[in-house]
Amino acid sequence: MSDSNSKNLGGLFDSQPLAGQHALITGGSRGIGAATSNALAALGASITLLARDVGKLKLQSDHLQAEYDAKVFYASTDITSEEDIADSFTQCVKANGAIDILVNNAGIGKSAPFHRMDLDFWQATMDLNLTGTFLCTKQVFEAMRERGYGRIVNIASTVGLRGYPYITAYTASKHAVVGLTRSLALEVVKKGVTVNAVCPGYTETDLVAEAIDNIVDASGRDGGDVKSEIENMSPMGRMVTPEEVAESVAWLCLPSSASITGQSIVVAGGSVM
Ligand code: NDP
Repeated sequence: MSDSNSKNLGGLFDSQPLAGQHALITGGSRGIGAATSNALAALGASITLLARDVGKLKLQSDHLQAEYDAKVFYASTDITSEEDIADSFTQCVKANGAIDILVNNAGIGKSAPFHRMDLDFWQATMDLNLTGTFLCTKQVFEAMRERGYGRIVNIASTVGLRGYPYITAYTASKHAVVGLTRSLALEVVKKGVTVNAVCPGYTETDLVAEAIDNIVDASGRDGGDVKSEIENMSPMGRMVTPEEVAESVAWLCLPSSASITGQSIVVAGGSVM
Protein backbone atom coordinates (compact mmCIF):
# COMPACT_ATOMS: atom_id res chain seq x y z
CA MET A 1 0.00 0.00 0.00
CA SER A 2 1.52 3.31 -1.00
CA ASP A 3 -1.10 5.84 0.11
CA SER A 4 -0.31 6.89 3.69
CA ASN A 5 -3.84 8.32 4.20
CA SER A 6 -5.47 4.96 3.59
CA LYS A 7 -2.91 3.37 5.94
CA ASN A 8 -4.11 5.67 8.69
CA LEU A 9 -7.57 4.10 8.51
CA GLY A 10 -6.36 0.65 9.51
CA GLY A 11 -7.12 -0.08 13.16
CA LEU A 12 -8.33 -2.64 15.64
CA PHE A 13 -11.72 -2.98 13.99
CA ASP A 14 -10.60 -3.69 10.43
CA SER A 15 -10.28 -7.39 9.71
CA GLN A 16 -7.27 -6.89 7.39
CA PRO A 17 -5.68 -3.56 8.41
CA LEU A 18 -2.33 -4.59 6.93
CA ALA A 19 -3.67 -5.59 3.49
CA GLY A 20 -1.25 -4.40 0.81
CA GLN A 21 1.63 -4.00 3.27
CA HIS A 22 4.90 -5.94 3.25
CA ALA A 23 6.30 -7.10 6.59
CA LEU A 24 9.82 -8.50 6.98
CA ILE A 25 10.59 -10.56 10.07
CA THR A 26 14.16 -11.59 10.88
CA GLY A 27 14.35 -14.92 12.67
CA GLY A 28 10.87 -15.57 11.32
CA SER A 29 11.23 -19.32 10.94
CA ARG A 30 10.38 -20.32 14.51
CA GLY A 31 9.64 -19.06 18.05
CA ILE A 32 8.54 -15.45 18.49
CA GLY A 33 9.40 -14.57 14.88
CA ALA A 34 7.19 -17.32 13.44
CA ALA A 35 4.31 -16.36 15.76
CA THR A 36 4.74 -12.74 14.65
CA SER A 37 4.60 -13.73 10.99
CA ASN A 38 1.34 -15.60 11.71
CA ALA A 39 -0.16 -12.53 13.41
CA LEU A 40 0.88 -10.13 10.62
CA ALA A 41 -0.26 -12.49 7.86
CA ALA A 42 -3.63 -12.87 9.60
CA LEU A 43 -3.96 -9.07 9.42
CA GLY A 44 -3.37 -9.20 5.65
CA ALA A 45 0.34 -8.38 5.22
CA SER A 46 2.57 -10.10 2.70
CA ILE A 47 5.53 -11.59 4.51
CA THR A 48 9.28 -11.98 4.16
CA LEU A 49 10.99 -14.43 6.50
CA LEU A 50 14.77 -14.36 7.00
CA ALA A 51 16.79 -16.88 9.03
CA ARG A 52 19.62 -19.32 8.27
CA ASP A 53 17.94 -22.76 8.17
CA VAL A 54 16.18 -22.96 4.82
CA GLY A 55 14.18 -26.08 5.77
CA LYS A 56 12.57 -24.32 8.74
CA LEU A 57 11.94 -21.21 6.62
CA LYS A 58 10.13 -23.32 4.03
CA LEU A 59 7.97 -25.01 6.70
CA GLN A 60 6.84 -21.65 8.11
CA SER A 61 6.34 -20.23 4.61
CA ASP A 62 4.12 -23.20 3.69
CA HIS A 63 2.16 -22.68 6.90
CA LEU A 64 1.57 -18.97 6.14
CA GLN A 65 0.38 -19.76 2.62
CA ALA A 66 -1.92 -22.59 3.72
CA GLU A 67 -3.35 -20.92 6.81
CA TYR A 68 -3.60 -17.25 5.73
CA ASP A 69 -3.27 -17.38 1.94
CA ALA A 70 -0.32 -15.02 2.44
CA LYS A 71 2.18 -13.98 -0.22
CA VAL A 72 5.49 -15.12 1.23
CA PHE A 73 9.14 -14.66 0.31
CA TYR A 74 11.93 -16.27 2.30
CA ALA A 75 15.71 -16.38 2.01
CA SER A 76 18.44 -18.05 3.99
CA THR A 77 20.23 -15.08 5.56
CA ASP A 78 22.80 -14.71 8.30
CA ILE A 79 21.79 -11.52 10.10
CA THR A 80 25.41 -11.02 11.19
CA SER A 81 26.46 -10.66 7.52
CA GLU A 82 26.03 -7.25 5.89
CA GLU A 83 26.34 -8.85 2.44
CA ASP A 84 23.66 -11.50 3.13
CA ILE A 85 21.34 -8.84 4.50
CA ALA A 86 21.79 -6.54 1.50
CA ASP A 87 21.12 -9.43 -0.95
CA SER A 88 18.01 -10.67 0.84
CA PHE A 89 16.47 -7.22 1.32
CA THR A 90 17.00 -6.43 -2.38
CA GLN A 91 15.41 -9.73 -3.44
CA CYS A 92 12.41 -9.45 -1.12
CA VAL A 93 11.59 -5.92 -2.30
CA LYS A 94 11.60 -7.24 -5.86
CA ALA A 95 9.24 -10.05 -4.80
CA ASN A 96 6.86 -8.27 -2.39
CA GLY A 97 7.41 -4.52 -2.91
CA ALA A 98 8.75 -1.88 -0.52
CA ILE A 99 8.96 -2.88 3.13
CA ASP A 100 6.32 -1.22 5.33
CA ILE A 101 7.03 -3.19 8.50
CA LEU A 102 10.39 -4.42 9.83
CA VAL A 103 10.51 -6.70 12.87
CA ASN A 104 14.09 -7.10 14.10
CA ASN A 105 13.64 -10.37 15.97
CA ALA A 106 16.62 -12.66 15.24
CA GLY A 107 18.62 -12.96 18.43
CA ILE A 108 20.59 -15.20 20.73
CA GLY A 109 20.58 -15.24 24.52
CA LYS A 110 23.50 -17.34 25.69
CA SER A 111 24.62 -17.23 29.32
CA ALA A 112 28.06 -17.36 30.92
CA PRO A 113 29.55 -15.95 34.11
CA PHE A 114 31.44 -12.77 33.27
CA HIS A 115 34.79 -14.18 34.42
CA ARG A 116 34.48 -17.00 31.86
CA MET A 117 33.25 -14.82 29.00
CA ASP A 118 35.74 -14.08 26.23
CA LEU A 119 35.66 -11.52 23.43
CA ASP A 120 34.30 -14.01 20.87
CA PHE A 121 31.30 -14.78 23.07
CA TRP A 122 30.67 -11.06 23.67
CA GLN A 123 31.07 -10.20 19.98
CA ALA A 124 28.78 -12.98 18.73
CA THR A 125 25.96 -11.65 20.91
CA MET A 126 26.52 -8.03 19.86
CA ASP A 127 26.89 -8.94 16.16
CA LEU A 128 23.46 -10.54 15.98
CA ASN A 129 21.33 -8.77 18.60
CA LEU A 130 22.62 -5.23 18.13
CA THR A 131 24.56 -4.86 14.88
CA GLY A 132 22.06 -7.10 13.05
CA THR A 133 19.27 -4.76 14.19
CA PHE A 134 21.33 -1.77 13.00
CA LEU A 135 22.10 -3.30 9.60
CA CYS A 136 18.53 -4.40 8.87
CA THR A 137 17.14 -1.04 9.96
CA LYS A 138 19.62 0.71 7.63
CA GLN A 139 18.13 -1.29 4.74
CA VAL A 140 14.62 0.15 5.21
CA PHE A 141 15.11 3.45 6.96
CA GLU A 142 15.68 5.87 4.06
CA ALA A 143 12.86 4.39 2.00
CA MET A 144 10.43 4.61 4.95
CA ARG A 145 11.41 8.25 5.57
CA GLU A 146 10.96 9.15 1.93
CA ARG A 147 7.60 7.38 1.65
CA GLY A 148 6.41 8.90 4.93
CA TYR A 149 5.36 5.58 6.41
CA GLY A 150 6.93 2.72 8.33
CA ARG A 151 6.72 0.52 11.40
CA ILE A 152 9.93 -0.80 12.99
CA VAL A 153 9.61 -3.14 15.96
CA ASN A 154 12.72 -4.39 17.73
CA ILE A 155 12.35 -7.50 19.87
CA ALA A 156 14.40 -6.56 22.93
CA SER A 157 13.70 -8.25 26.28
CA THR A 158 13.04 -7.51 29.93
CA VAL A 159 16.84 -7.78 30.08
CA GLY A 160 16.86 -4.58 28.01
CA LEU A 161 15.36 -2.79 31.01
CA ARG A 162 17.04 -4.32 34.06
CA GLY A 163 20.06 -6.41 34.97
CA TYR A 164 20.30 -10.16 35.60
CA PRO A 165 23.40 -12.17 36.53
CA TYR A 166 25.31 -14.40 34.07
CA ILE A 167 23.93 -12.75 30.94
CA THR A 168 25.97 -9.56 30.78
CA ALA A 169 26.51 -9.68 27.01
CA TYR A 170 22.84 -10.42 26.34
CA THR A 171 21.73 -7.72 28.79
CA ALA A 172 24.11 -5.14 27.31
CA SER A 173 22.97 -5.95 23.76
CA LYS A 174 19.28 -5.60 24.65
CA HIS A 175 19.82 -2.37 26.64
CA ALA A 176 21.54 -1.06 23.52
CA VAL A 177 18.59 -2.12 21.34
CA VAL A 178 16.25 -0.20 23.67
CA GLY A 179 18.54 2.85 23.42
CA LEU A 180 18.68 2.63 19.63
CA THR A 181 14.87 2.37 19.57
CA ARG A 182 14.39 5.49 21.68
CA SER A 183 16.81 7.70 19.78
CA LEU A 184 15.76 6.52 16.32
CA ALA A 185 12.08 7.05 17.17
CA LEU A 186 12.79 10.74 17.74
CA GLU A 187 14.70 11.10 14.46
CA VAL A 188 11.59 10.14 12.46
CA VAL A 189 8.83 11.26 14.79
CA LYS A 190 7.41 13.65 12.17
CA LYS A 191 7.95 11.31 9.22
CA GLY A 192 5.17 8.76 9.73
CA VAL A 193 7.66 6.13 10.90
CA THR A 194 7.37 4.61 14.38
CA VAL A 195 10.16 2.71 16.14
CA ASN A 196 9.29 0.62 19.18
CA ALA A 197 10.67 -2.25 21.22
CA VAL A 198 8.80 -5.22 22.63
CA CYS A 199 10.37 -6.65 25.77
CA PRO A 200 9.26 -10.21 26.49
CA GLY A 201 9.99 -12.07 29.69
CA TYR A 202 10.81 -15.79 29.53
CA THR A 203 8.90 -17.09 26.50
CA GLU A 204 8.37 -20.75 25.59
CA THR A 205 10.68 -21.14 22.59
CA ASP A 206 13.80 -23.05 21.55
CA LEU A 207 15.91 -20.26 23.06
CA VAL A 208 14.65 -21.04 26.58
CA ALA A 209 14.71 -24.81 25.97
CA GLU A 210 18.41 -24.50 25.06
CA ALA A 211 19.05 -22.36 28.15
CA ILE A 212 17.42 -25.06 30.32
CA ASP A 213 19.54 -27.77 28.65
CA ASN A 214 22.69 -25.72 29.35
CA ILE A 215 21.79 -25.36 33.03
CA VAL A 216 21.09 -29.11 33.23
CA ASP A 217 24.43 -29.91 31.56
CA ALA A 218 26.37 -27.54 33.82
CA SER A 219 24.67 -28.39 37.12
CA GLY A 220 23.26 -31.91 36.72
CA ARG A 221 19.90 -30.58 37.93
CA ASP A 222 16.58 -31.97 36.78
CA GLY A 223 15.25 -30.20 33.65
CA GLY A 224 11.68 -30.12 34.97
CA ASP A 225 12.82 -28.43 38.19
CA VAL A 226 14.76 -25.79 36.24
CA LYS A 227 11.71 -25.13 34.04
CA SER A 228 9.44 -24.76 37.10
CA GLU A 229 11.92 -22.36 38.65
CA ILE A 230 11.83 -20.21 35.51
CA GLU A 231 8.03 -20.32 35.44
CA ASN A 232 7.84 -19.27 39.06
CA MET A 233 10.10 -16.26 38.43
CA SER A 234 7.02 -14.71 36.82
CA PRO A 235 4.17 -13.50 39.05
CA MET A 236 1.91 -15.34 36.54
CA GLY A 237 3.62 -18.61 37.43
CA ARG A 238 4.14 -19.47 33.78
CA MET A 239 6.16 -18.42 30.77
CA VAL A 240 4.83 -16.02 28.15
CA THR A 241 3.67 -17.66 24.91
CA PRO A 242 5.16 -16.61 21.54
CA GLU A 243 1.62 -15.72 20.42
CA GLU A 244 1.24 -13.24 23.28
CA VAL A 245 4.42 -11.46 22.21
CA ALA A 246 3.29 -11.53 18.57
CA GLU A 247 -0.04 -9.85 19.42
CA SER A 248 1.83 -6.89 20.93
CA VAL A 249 4.10 -6.64 17.90
CA ALA A 250 1.07 -6.72 15.59
CA TRP A 251 -0.65 -3.95 17.55
CA LEU A 252 2.42 -1.71 17.18
CA CYS A 253 2.41 -2.44 13.43
CA LEU A 254 -1.15 -1.21 12.89
CA PRO A 255 -1.53 1.99 10.90
CA SER A 256 -3.63 3.31 13.82
CA SER A 257 -0.68 2.93 16.24
CA ALA A 258 0.90 6.04 14.68
CA SER A 259 1.26 7.89 18.00
CA ILE A 260 3.02 5.05 19.81
CA THR A 261 6.74 5.45 19.29
CA GLY A 262 9.98 5.08 21.24
CA GLN A 263 8.24 2.70 23.65
CA SER A 264 9.44 -0.51 25.26
CA ILE A 265 6.34 -2.65 25.70
CA VAL A 266 6.91 -5.26 28.39
CA VAL A 267 5.15 -8.61 27.85
CA ALA A 268 6.22 -10.47 30.95
CA GLY A 269 3.28 -11.21 33.25
CA GLY A 270 4.20 -8.51 35.75
CA SER A 271 7.86 -9.55 36.12
CA VAL A 272 9.05 -6.02 35.34
CA MET A 273 7.05 -2.90 36.21
P1 NDP B 1 14.47 -18.91 18.88
O1 NDP B 1 15.81 -19.43 19.22
O2 NDP B 1 13.26 -19.74 19.10
O3 NDP B 1 14.45 -18.39 17.35
C1 NDP B 1 15.48 -17.57 16.90
C2 NDP B 1 15.22 -17.22 15.45
O4 NDP B 1 16.33 -16.39 15.01
C3 NDP B 1 15.21 -18.42 14.54
O5 NDP B 1 14.33 -18.18 13.44
C4 NDP B 1 16.65 -18.52 14.08
O6 NDP B 1 16.74 -19.23 12.84
C5 NDP B 1 16.98 -17.03 13.93
N1 NDP B 1 18.41 -16.76 14.00
C6 NDP B 1 19.30 -17.08 14.98
N2 NDP B 1 20.52 -16.68 14.65
C7 NDP B 1 20.43 -16.09 13.43
C8 NDP B 1 21.35 -15.50 12.54
N3 NDP B 1 22.66 -15.41 12.82
N4 NDP B 1 20.91 -15.03 11.37
C9 NDP B 1 19.59 -15.10 11.05
N5 NDP B 1 18.66 -15.63 11.85
C10 NDP B 1 19.08 -16.12 13.02
O7 NDP B 1 14.38 -17.53 19.70
P2 NDP B 1 13.12 -16.73 20.30
O8 NDP B 1 11.98 -16.81 19.39
O9 NDP B 1 12.98 -17.12 21.71
O10 NDP B 1 13.76 -15.27 20.31
C11 NDP B 1 13.44 -14.29 19.34
C12 NDP B 1 13.87 -12.95 19.90
O11 NDP B 1 13.19 -12.71 21.12
C13 NDP B 1 15.37 -12.84 20.21
O12 NDP B 1 15.82 -11.56 19.85
C14 NDP B 1 15.42 -13.01 21.71
O13 NDP B 1 16.51 -12.36 22.29
C15 NDP B 1 14.11 -12.34 22.12
N6 NDP B 1 13.62 -12.75 23.42
C16 NDP B 1 13.33 -14.06 23.69
C17 NDP B 1 12.90 -14.43 24.95
C18 NDP B 1 12.61 -15.83 25.32
O14 NDP B 1 12.46 -16.11 26.53
N7 NDP B 1 12.47 -16.76 24.38
C19 NDP B 1 12.70 -13.42 26.00
C20 NDP B 1 13.04 -12.09 25.61
C21 NDP B 1 13.47 -11.77 24.36
P3 NDP B 1 18.11 -19.96 12.36
O15 NDP B 1 18.73 -20.59 13.58
O16 NDP B 1 17.68 -20.91 11.32
O17 NDP B 1 18.96 -18.87 11.78
